Amino acid sequence: MRTDNLIERERRMTALCGLAIVAAVTSFAVAACTSVAAQDDPAPSTADQPAGGPPGVQDGVLPEKTSAFDTARPGIAKLDPALLKAVQQAETAMKKDGITMQVTTGWRSKRYQQELLDKAIFKYGSRKKALEFVSTPDDSHHVTGHAVDIGPTDADDWIIRKGARFGLCQTLSNEMWHFELATTPGGECPPMS
Ligand SMILES: [Zn+2]
Repeated sequence: MRTDNLIERERRMTALCGLAIVAAVTSFAVAACTSVAAQDDPAPSTADQPAGGPPGVQDGVLPEKTSAFDTARPGIAKLDPALLKAVQQAETAMKKDGITMQVTTGWRSKRYQQELLDKAIFKYGSRKKALEFVSTPDDSHHVTGHAVDIGPTDADDWIIRKGARFGLCQTLSNEMWHFELATTPGGECPPMS
């Protein structure tokens, strides 16, 4: 009887141990699968984003209905002074024609421009395609303060027709809202790129 008991205990121990090994292997496998899945996750990583969250007012983000006279905002204040003066003159002149314009973007920080480019790469699926629509931080005239985006459409139309009297020209053929100081006041605008 005693021998039988011992044998029975040994059998139970072996069975338990076997179960433990199966459990350990299973949980290791689950852990391994989880980590592979995490690595293959196609969701955009937040690791590359600069510290401090999304671009804000200090990066040149402008709220709705920003006027060229809202010089407390970095997006306006950091524009090239000559361009800012011309845009203010245009705003005043078109107001007399019954049109209220807004600056949708003026100066942008490199960080803000990079975020726009990153979003475009995500949207268009390739850097090459994205660069047809969004410049790099090193190439953007917004980053140097030499470009403004104006809205709404009737304000764009006004500047396209009358902006040259202040030196303002549409410079990109695919962006009717993008203006730069590209001629002398009263001069002729150069061909668009
Ligand atoms: Zn622009």
